[in-house]
Amino acid sequence: MDGLRDLYQDVILEHGRNPRNKGLPADADRRADGRNPNCGDRVSVALRLDGERIAAIGFEGEGCAISMASASMMTDVVKGVETAVALRLFADFRKLCSVAAGDGETVLDGQGLGEDLVDRLKVMAGVRQFPARVKCATLPWAALAAALEGETEASSE
Ligand code: ZN
Repeated sequence: MDGLRDLYQDVILEHGRNPRNKGLPADADRRADGRNPNCGDRVSVALRLDGERIAAIGFEGEGCAISMASASMMTDVVKGVETAVALRLFADFRKLCSVAAGDGETVLDGQGLGEDLVDRLKVMAGVRQFPARVKCATLPWAALAAALEGETEASSE
């Protein structure tokens, strides 16, 4: 699994250096904030829906490298997808983060997403090697889910 571990580090670093969708869209009509008290991460996610599709999305916040990289990747993955798909991806990603390596390899397949995005999410799920940090990775997704459900704060489960 060393290869995956290196890839995981690379993805975190790359998104840290070059975050996607940083900043909240000016025309956003939904926004939710999430906090992870264990680590001190804060992430706000704002988006605009066009019917059932996420037409625009961005994030703001501060926290550890994992939370920021996950926010960057999450916004990249769900931009342009239907809300139901985004919520299913969150459920699948959370599942993927909590199963033993190798057990969840097919969780994200067959969603009609680009293989590239699915592969990157699988890499992000490498956070399961560090169980104390899983919440850092799922925090931006929790904020997304809250925003889609019309809440303004993500529940900290
Ligand atoms: Zn964190």
